[in-house]
Amino acid sequence: RRRNPGEPEFHQAVREVLDSLAPALHAHPEFAEPGLIERITEPERQVMFRVPWQDDSGTTLVHRGFRVEFSSTLGPYKGGLRFHPSVNLGIVKFLGFEQVFKNSLTGLGLGGAKGGSDFDPRGRSDREVMRFCQSFMTELHRHVGEHTDIPAGDIGVGTREIGFLFGQYRRITNRWESGVLTGKGREWGGSALRAQATGYGNVLFAAELLHTRGEDLDGRRVAVSGSGNVALYSIAKARDLGAHVVTASDSEGCVVDEKGVDVELLRQIKEIERGRISAYAQRRGSCAVYVPGGRVWDVPCDVALPSATQNELDADAAATLVRNGVTVVSEGANMPTTPDAVRVLHSAGVAFGPGKAANAGGVVTSAFEMQQNSRRESWSSLRVAERLALAMRTIHDTCRQTAERYGAPGNYVLGANIAGFTRLAAAMLAQGVV
Ligand code: NDP
Repeated sequence: RRRNPGEPEFHQAVREVLDSLAPALHAHPEFAEPGLIERITEPERQVMFRVPWQDDSGTTLVHRGFRVEFSSTLGPYKGGLRFHPSVNLGIVKFLGFEQVFKNSLTGLGLGGAKGGSDFDPRGRSDREVMRFCQSFMTELHRHVGEHTDIPAGDIGVGTREIGFLFGQYRRITNRWESGVLTGKGREWGGSALRAQATGYGNVLFAAELLHTRGEDLDGRRVAVSGSGNVALYSIAKARDLGAHVVTASDSEGCVVDEKGVDVELLRQIKEIERGRISAYAQRRGSCAVYVPGGRVWDVPCDVALPSATQNELDADAAATLVRNGVTVVSEGANMPTTPDAVRVLHSAGVAFGPGKAANAGGVVTSAFEMQQNSRRESWSSLRVAERLALAMRTIHDTCRQTAERYGAPGNYVLGANIAGFTRLAAAMLAQGVV
């Protein structure tokens, strides 16, 4: 903490991993080599830069850009960009740290990174977002590349922003280097199902958790938080598998829709019109209620899928979920559940899927996009869907088996952390002190 003051989310993410590692260090004393943990918790490189741009009125604004290249032990740096006013160095470091373990867990040849800016795209015109993205990439292009560092989307960065970023990269470098960014539009190097992948993947993970109890999603009541990319496609996939999704939210409130969330209406409002969740309730009719400032965790459900942001599900919310009979909580967002809340869920016997595993479908499909780019191929939705389903099953089984092997059956947090750590640590030892 003395070394990294004012970065509580980073401390939280590191502590959660370190708390899991004792059985792995006991079984592999070589991983306890002095300096190894210190190297894992120190980013290889951190870049902070000025992002000046002009809004539609001609006013010059200055934001701060970040790219934290955490680890390239297992492959080129890989991880999303977040545009949100809350972004600071500590947030980007926590996300980058998580990404290293997530990418290791997937078995892919990818290192970990994260980046972004305190810019808020909400309420900005397309031209303003374009000018901001162009300024952001004018600096970022020095640090990224298909063999170096490959950003993707995250909060506030979707296909629109990736398009503007890619256009500026192409213009500056005079190269068609499609592998430099993932999450591109389908017509210019993007993969089928990349937009859907994180939400779809999390629902597949939740289904695996249910299968271990001899249950499935059919007929289950599901609570989803958020209404962005991950939430939207979690709702869509859960509905396809027969579940009844009754909630969605944004930072201002939540909706409860007892008839089941209408995905097409939500997509129209959020993705096309870029509107608020309150508009959903107004247009949906009497089955949907908007609760200003409300939290979805108060709504009784069997399965909860936190899909908005970090620390959105605290111990009090977890206790409410348990009281209402939740059996599975699976994280679509990164670190949405506080450590106290995880303890409440574990001690109540709730199956808990940590984000590192449960939301890895996004980066897995980014890797598919990179494979298609390097082969100049375009895979069908069916092919991507089959590979994504296989990947999520494999990640689930890896977490489950690792937790059992290290004496904590059913603890997917420990399973995900140890599986990610052991692969990373072995590669670090093999590569020497770098
Ligand atoms: P979006 O920007 O598409 O959506 C974010 C959603 O979360 C919005 O509904 C937003 O509401 C809400 N939200 C954001 N910040 C807050 C906050 N401080 N308090 C309450 N609600 C908030 O982002 P994504 O769906 O892409 O990302 C959601 C989560 O999933 C993040 O944790 C991200 O790191 C994680 N993730 C995303 C992946 C991806 O492929 N996109 C991959 C893996 C993880 P509002 O509009 O009011 O801000």
